[in-house]
Amino acid sequence: MRRDQFDPPLPAAQSPASAPLVDSHARRIDYIRLSVTDRCNYRCVYCMSENMNFLPKADLLTLEELERLASAFVARGVRKIRITGGEPLVRRNVMSLFRGLSRLFERGLNELTLTTNGALLARFAEELADCGVRRVNVSLDTLDAQKFRALTRWGDLAQVLAGVEAARAAGLKVKINCVALKGANEDEFLPLVEWAHGLGMDLTFIEVMPLGEDAAHNIESFLPLDAVAAALAEGLTLSPSTHASGGPAQHFDVAETGGRVGFITPLSQHFCDSCNRVRVTCTGALYTCLGQEDHIDLRGPLRASPDDAALHAAIDEALRRKPRGHDFVAQWAGQMAPARRPMSMTGG
Ligand code: SAM
Ligand code: SF4
Repeated sequence: MRRDQFDPPLPAAQSPASAPLVDSHARRIDYIRLSVTDRCNYRCVYCMSENMNFLPKADLLTLEELERLASAFVARGVRKIRITGGEPLVRRNVMSLFRGLSRLFERGLNELTLTTNGALLARFAEELADCGVRRVNVSLDTLDAQKFRALTRWGDLAQVLAGVEAARAAGLKVKINCVALKGANEDEFLPLVEWAHGLGMDLTFIEVMPLGEDAAHNIESFLPLDAVAAALAEGLTLSPSTHASGGPAQHFDVAETGGRVGFITPLSQHFCDSCNRVRVTCTGALYTCLGQEDHIDLRGPLRASPDDAALHAAIDEALRRKPRGHDFVAQWAGQMAPARRPMSMTGG
């Protein structure tokens, strides 16, 4: 794995089961993104190939293992858990996991949330709210039904819009995530913001990242978000917001709508210095950086013993190795191979 020339020496591993998670760059980790499946009911062009091969079920952490893992992280000071995938709502019995995780509120968890494509949200919104979920991110790149079908290959826009409505009706705060794609949704940035803000939802734009088998295609459709900001400025007045989401987005208040727009710019601007998160795949691989291949297996220690000592030692080792930053820019410039795993593996 890459280590910067000027990185500080690695501290010795320590693993008391309640010690806060601090990496070797003094960043406190209090947020995990937990992927519960690599499967999906869509095949978004920038995320998966149409004939994607999925993992054998036996490789996936069971729902009980996912809950035990989350519980171990909460014992180490994690306060926010985002459930993701693949599409998290296609995992069988995923609601029993949410119910189990909701018990962690009594042990220090502050927020339980999820990122979803919204297709199954109409079915699950009320139950999610009942499990203590207060906010949900819905990914939506276009409001044009045909374009939506082309981008997701299999998606039905009406279902997603119904999911958004159901979430709002259940009292969930919805945020829309939109990947900016050259040649695909360039003409829709303004209408998307107006639509989302009209329904009281914030919207965050994301730069497409060179991940997965078809990373080269993503490089072709890359659009720096200053192009998005310029398009929005044609109809809206954006001013820097004081809002801090605890994430990598830069936020702007929109005078005309009273809503907020976020920009996540992994390529055009580094956001790594304040990174507070790690990601666990559905097979229990702990990735400490979205843009790096280095990871540590947590499934082995989970399955080897009902005692969590080895699990905590593995988490500590991963934290010691958390890199200072991602390598997207070097990957972009062709100086390094892109990470081959798709976003559907590490979750968004
Ligand atoms: N299936 C769910 C969904 O789409 O919201 C959750 C998982 S998906 C991998 C999480 C987020 O990653 C989505 O907002 C999606 O648009 C984004 N995403 C997927 N591939 C990406 C890529 N190559 N670059 C940037 N964002 C990507
Ligand atoms: Fe599925 Fe989400 Fe990837 Fe689209 S972005 S294919 S919805 S996991």
